[in-house]
Amino acid sequence: MSFKMSIKTNLQNIKSYLPEHVTLVAVSKTKPIRDLMEAYNAGQRIFGENKIQEMVEKQGQMPEDVEWHMIGHVQRNKVKYMASFVSLIHGVDNFKLLKEINKQAIKHNRVINCLFQIKIASEDSKFGMYFHEAEDILKSEAFSELKNIKIKGVMGMATFTDDKEQIKIEFQNLKQTFDKLQELDTDNCKLETISMGMSGDYELAINCGSTMIRVGSNIFGARNY
Ligand SMILES: *Cc1c(COP(=O)(O)O)cnc(C)c1O
Repeated sequence: MSFKMSIKTNLQNIKSYLPEHVTLVAVSKTKPIRDLMEAYNAGQRIFGENKIQEMVEKQGQMPEDVEWHMIGHVQRNKVKYMASFVSLIHGVDNFKLLKEINKQAIKHNRVINCLFQIKIASEDSKFGMYFHEAEDILKSEAFSELKNIKIKGVMGMATFTDDKEQIKIEFQNLKQTFDKLQELDTDNCKLETISMGMSGDYELAINCGSTMIRVGSNIFGARNY
């Protein structure tokens, strides 16, 4: 039997599975505009990219009502390129970056929504904060002065492994971190989003409390780097 991939069918399959409170981010990194348009024409409006330059180029070619999510690591000196349009930055993991996002948001007279990336994987990943680092930022005077950013939740990436039990523990960890941080509700911090789960583990992530999944290959097919 030959396998014919249809982006529209893939999207429908995933969507039919999702509970109402879970948002789907279609991760379109490395994929051409015609693939994004196929998803768009099937009703998808939220797209995730992991490189700012690529997201900026695609934003210029896609319809205006697309919501662009930056899901990758963000370099401070590149925030300015996406500040006018980005709708959610998932990978905020230090205060200096947050300050820069706030500064660029002011220039565009807008509030930029962000998630704190939390370290949950056992493997040594360079990015992400520990609970206490996130807590320290949220409790600080300096943070309360950043009026043009809003922390909407947390994001995490599980260890790259087939061990579902380990992934589950890491997802539960992120949910617990979210629950604790949620108590620190302030003007610019209202936690409602838990961004966790990708093609291989989104069902598990949803069972562990995810409210936002980031799915690439299950929609667009495997990526050739
Ligand atoms: C690429 C990527 C995804 C999507 O991965 P798939 O396995 O293709 O679904 C999700 N989150 C982040 C941060 C990514 O970089």
